[in-house]
Amino acid sequence: MYTILGAGLAGLSTAHHLQQKGIAFRIFEAKAHGGGHVHSEERDGFIWDEGPHVSFTKYAYVREYFAANCNQAYQEFAPVPSNYASGNWIPHPAQANMYAVPEALREACIADVKVARSRQPKNFIANNYQEWIDYAFGETFAEKFAGVYTRKYWTTDPENLTTDWIGKRIYFPELSDMTDSASGPLEKQTHYISSVRYPQEGGYYSYIRDVESQLNITYNHKLTAISFERKEIIFEHGAHISFDKLISTLPLPLLIGCSDAPLPVKAAAKQLRCSSVLIINVVANHPAKVDAHWIYVYDEAFYSTRINFTELLSASNGITGQTGIQVEVYFSDYHPVNHQVEMIEKEVIRELIIMGLIADQESVSSYHSKWVDWANVIFDILRKEAQETVFKWLATQGLAREDDDLEPMTEWDTKPIWQPGSLMLAGRFAQWKYYWTDDCVMRARYIADNLEK
Ligand SMILES: Cc1cc2nc3c(=O)[nH]c(=O)nc-3n(C[C@H](O)[C@H](O)[C@H](O)COP(=O)(O)OP(=O)(O)OC[C@H]3O[C@@H](n4cnc5c(N)ncnc54)[C@H](O)[C@@H]3O)c2cc1C
Repeated sequence: MYTILGAGLAGLSTAHHLQQKGIAFRIFEAKAHGGGHVHSEERDGFIWDEGPHVSFTKYAYVREYFAANCNQAYQEFAPVPSNYASGNWIPHPAQANMYAVPEALREACIADVKVARSRQPKNFIANNYQEWIDYAFGETFAEKFAGVYTRKYWTTDPENLTTDWIGKRIYFPELSDMTDSASGPLEKQTHYISSVRYPQEGGYYSYIRDVESQLNITYNHKLTAISFERKEIIFEHGAHISFDKLISTLPLPLLIGCSDAPLPVKAAAKQLRCSSVLIINVVANHPAKVDAHWIYVYDEAFYSTRINFTELLSASNGITGQTGIQVEVYFSDYHPVNHQVEMIEKEVIRELIIMGLIADQESVSSYHSKWVDWANVIFDILRKEAQETVFKWLATQGLAREDDDLEPMTEWDTKPIWQPGSLMLAGRFAQWKYYWTDDCVMRARYIADNLEK
């Protein structure tokens, strides 16, 4: 019997895949519902996801899985991301749309990127993210755009980040992309997401809601202690269970922190940094002022970091004639919360008015906010060594190491067969990876495929 901890997307899809193979399991979840980060809530007449969620997977398996789970009721469209920088609207990615950058800044950026590219050999390997952005974009663009956004979204300086998480997520421009785009849009796709799918009804949660309803989940069971030695779990209200084979989708630092791991392992787990996000959901009594599905904000003085419009993802998420604006504000140990939430909410509304996304204060019908504790794993310089210490110890407790378990991403098409141990990790925060929702589903399938009955 497998014990699955957590009923987010990784836990739910793992349970579902095990069920399909006839493998016995039980699943425990802290909250009164599943979905984790893909849960959607209805409030003030709008459906709100936990930050913008769209599916842009390259895996046909996941496209079919999500489509089947929502009875084929999804829509597919080319997303329009945009950038806001000091009063300017710049198509995304800005480094390939230089024509929209104010002239003086544009000239400085282009002069700098030429210098940056000529200074380094073609096979230049950056030691950290700061070196990467300086080389990719030149120092001015790196500071005014990528550097500012890094401090807001990743909550730390680019020098403190590695480069192993970048992949295709950030467009590395040809020098000609920056120079040619100075005079107008390029005739090629430069954003890594060209098409997305989103459920027609009920928000992103509709991709897994039906699966959840068919599983026998033990809700309101928050793990507060675990002994790997005694193979025992204690839940918040005092219930104890023993386990034989365990699949954890809980955040790795949390799991280790309340376990009987030795102190140096706990210390290493504490070094694993993750951001948290304050999501501020605002309803305005007029339609969206822009057609961008989401916006990256480069003003360092603004709390607003990323903004999306829930009714633009699906009209059924909102009320005709109104807009549901969702703003993400990031914090972490590197950038702790510095003000009361009420003050941040008011400030964010002021920023939305300055950006022209809300007509005026009187147009705000309602607002509320939500804390999401685990948002993005921060791939800082200390991460890999700390994670290795944790995994090395977990390997003594039944974890079968994998060839890529310290890498931020997984290439599922080429991942070799694996012999799981009695302890498995699944999902973004359990494996401590830069996983999207498709990775969580692929992980579930991979675990089920590699398990014997
Ligand atoms: C703001 C934001 C935007 C995103 N946008 C996208 C996107 O556009 N597209 C995309 O594909 N992905 C996106 N993602 C990533 C995606 O949300 C995650 O990869 C995925 O939802 C992670 O699922 P999970 O099951 O691994 O973790 P979680 O969703 O965190 O699930 C873990 C579960 O464990 C439960 N739990 C926690 N602690 C305990 C405990 N002590 N005891 C019992 N249960 C516990 C939680 O309640 C939760 O249900 C985004 C993420 C964020 C934060």
